[in-house]
Amino acid sequence: MNFIILGGPGCGKGTQAKKISLKFGISHLSTGEIFRKILEQKNVLSETLRQYVDKGILVPDSIVFDIINTQITNCQVGFILDGFPRNMNQAIKLDQLLLSQNKIIDNVLYIYLESDETIKRLTSRRICRKCCKNYNLITEKPKEDEICDLCKIKLIQRRDDKLKTVFERIKVYQSETLPLINYYEKQKKLIKISGLGIQKEVFKLILEKIGKNYN
Ligand code: AMP
Repeated sequence: MNFIILGGPGCGKGTQAKKISLKFGISHLSTGEIFRKILEQKNVLSETLRQYVDKGILVPDSIVFDIINTQITNCQVGFILDGFPRNMNQAIKLDQLLLSQNKIIDNVLYIYLESDETIKRLTSRRICRKCCKNYNLITEKPKEDEICDLCKIKLIQRRDDKLKTVFERIKVYQSETLPLINYYEKQKKLIKISGLGIQKEVFKLILEKIGKNYN
């Protein structure tokens, strides 16, 4: 079983992708998380990535594709792609890669959210740099003030969750990623889910929608 989870910045796709991967026993392949891990190191690749990620713009397709190609090729179980594909070129390349490996995407989960809500969520989002769990200082607070419930370390704000970068990410999403909705709708793979509720409610909605196919 292979999924793509699609949606704008802050729609909760990372959190939902983790829940789905646990529920179905499949791998969670998140390009954003992979990049953030690389950014914690000091090397040529991290210096290159920083120029894009910190500004909220897309990393060149060749770099992204090298990484995702290895991940998919090595994946022995199903997977959920989170943050990839992000533009038409990546989507077409992905289809070619999957075809060459006799794999298919079963469903594309599209989580939609208004821009106002996106901005509110991203600027109040905090993450644990160790386990990557996401919190929200308004709606999904940690038990102790800005401390990860699981790892007990101080939460951080992603550098690209600062307001100026958030605007840029929304712009990039609208021009580069939104056309994919139509692409997957034509393939009859798209499942639309409102991202407005809290994590638990959105997850329930996802299960209801895909449950029909995977009972
Ligand atoms: P995310 O955690 O998915 O919001 O990704 C954080 C940042 O990583 C994005 O703003 C981009 O700079 C970069 N990134 C993640 N996935 C991709 C991708 N598929 N293509 C290009 N850049 C990406």
